[in-house]
Amino acid sequence: MIAHSGDGADDRGRGGMPVTRRAVIGGVAGAGLLEMLSMASPLQNEAMAEESPEGIAGRALFAAETPHVYTRAQWKARPPRRPATVLNRAPDHIVVHHTATANSRDGSLAHAFSLSRSIQNIHMDKNGWDDTGQQLTISRGGIVMEGRNRSLKSIRAGDLVVGAQVLHNNDHTIGIENEGTYTSRAVPGRLWKSLLEVCVWLCQEYDLDPSSAIVGHRDYNKTECPGDRLYARLPELRRSVAARLEGSPSPGNATTGPVLPVLPSLDDLT
Ligand SMILES: [Zn+2]
Repeated sequence: MIAHSGDGADDRGRGGMPVTRRAVIGGVAGAGLLEMLSMASPLQNEAMAEESPEGIAGRALFAAETPHVYTRAQWKARPPRRPATVLNRAPDHIVVHHTATANSRDGSLAHAFSLSRSIQNIHMDKNGWDDTGQQLTISRGGIVMEGRNRSLKSIRAGDLVVGAQVLHNNDHTIGIENEGTYTSRAVPGRLWKSLLEVCVWLCQEYDLDPSSAIVGHRDYNKTECPGDRLYARLPELRRSVAARLEGSPSPGNATTGPVLPVLPSLDDLT
């Protein structure tokens, strides 16, 4: 189990598509988002839009709230065999995986942390990799965790930690492992909500277009991953992420306003 992740490729890759270093349009702390929106007059909004590198009003107004991501220290990761390689560029694709593990009903923090440790053990001891393959992990309960070492710092800096999650394509993609097996079973709501949140965050941090950036593992490698059921929902995921990125407080766009769901916090779960 979990052997599909990376498919044997650790820190290797070839010729990813060139990527543009992200333009800095995000970075507003989540808590300040609503204040920022309420304070900005239409005129100010327009000025902000013009200052945006993309010139897209929605992008300029939107500021993704960094989802709560539990760190490696919190789930008690082992040290990696060597520090991960960090590339001074953004990834061009977000790869959605399933862990191909049991569809657990345990949504607890303890279960999520145990899952991360289990994946790391398999990737290091069985697969012989330097560390956990994927950059991010989401439990069935919607708990988001850092995977490979240096992932969180790199995302916040707009850089890419080279993982081991997509054979031949690790030097230009970032991977999210979603707990469960979605060949025939539906994706839990809490996991979906967190996956959406993480994709909004990554698209904002890396200035990615969700309509083309979000892909499934099977789009690169010969694998069932992320399962037919999860794969079938990727178009919906792309649309939902795009709607959130383009969310604007204008009356005509009220239904897609950038109201962000709250991810589990440590206080809620302990
Ligand atoms: Zn996969």
